[in-house]
Amino acid sequence: MTLSLANKVALVSGGSRGIGRAIALEFAARGAAVVVNYNKSSDAAEEVVKKIQEAGGKAAAFQADVADFKQAEALVKFTIETFGDLSVLVNNAGITRDQLIMMMPEADWDAVINTNLKSAFNCSKAAVKHMMRKRVGRIINMASVAGQMGNPGQTNYSASKAGLIGFTKALAREVAARNITVNAIAPGFVDTEILDAMPAETLENAVKMMVPLARKGKPEEIAYAAAFLASDEAAYITGQTLGVDGGMAMM
Ligand code: NAP
Repeated sequence: MTLSLANKVALVSGGSRGIGRAIALEFAARGAAVVVNYNKSSDAAEEVVKKIQEAGGKAAAFQADVADFKQAEALVKFTIETFGDLSVLVNNAGITRDQLIMMMPEADWDAVINTNLKSAFNCSKAAVKHMMRKRVGRIINMASVAGQMGNPGQTNYSASKAGLIGFTKALAREVAARNITVNAIAPGFVDTEILDAMPAETLENAVKMMVPLARKGKPEEIAYAAAFLASDEAAYITGQTLGVDGGMAMM
């Protein structure tokens, strides 16, 4: 199979729903053993694991709030103990708490920065220790067009995603000598529950006006990009942000 992930062990943060779920399923279909991390949606995470196992793959679910340093450490430890390795880390977990800055509670700023950005530090710090020893690894950070273009009502979210892009570049330079690549994916509008926070009509108009391909993306379309970046074939790509956005942000 091209872009095979056989013999790889992947950890997908926020793998219970949406884009993370699609990545977990795609990686497993390509032969990886997958740890499906979740925070609250245990049933959804177990359903992903069951689907992978029924198809003959290897998977396990693990509850951890990745915004919390110790819980992220425990998640990485669980992955290595359960499947004996950690070759691909996908920092995918994310939330929105949209509000104009004048009205944004401090707690919503903190929640978004901690869940979307600090989580990547937490999980990567633990994972890199293992990958450095193995002298190989892949880290994929789920950014957003919001981090590239900015979005009104999303100062917290846009800052977290722009932060992830900077984090990706800096870490890529730090670990390149050990054969570890670090890349980001910047999705546009992708059809998941995270978009439920937007009024349907606003969303429809935004897609029409801002997306050259004039439709939302499917979670699977982000997963294909992640599978490529996780594969051996992508060994010479690092520090990059791959837009999977229907042409929304042409950088
Ligand atoms: P989603 O459907 O709302 O799923 C979010 C996932 O993140 C869930 O599995 C959720 O798990 C998990 N999660 C949230 N907080 C967590 C925490 N503290 N610890 C561990 N897991 C946590 O959203 P999505 O659209 O798939 O988003 C996935 C990523 O893509 C996010 O980083 C998002 O910012 C990014 N993105 C999405 C879009 C889009 O249009 N959909 C566009 C650009 C970027 P629980 O349910 O268990 O809490």
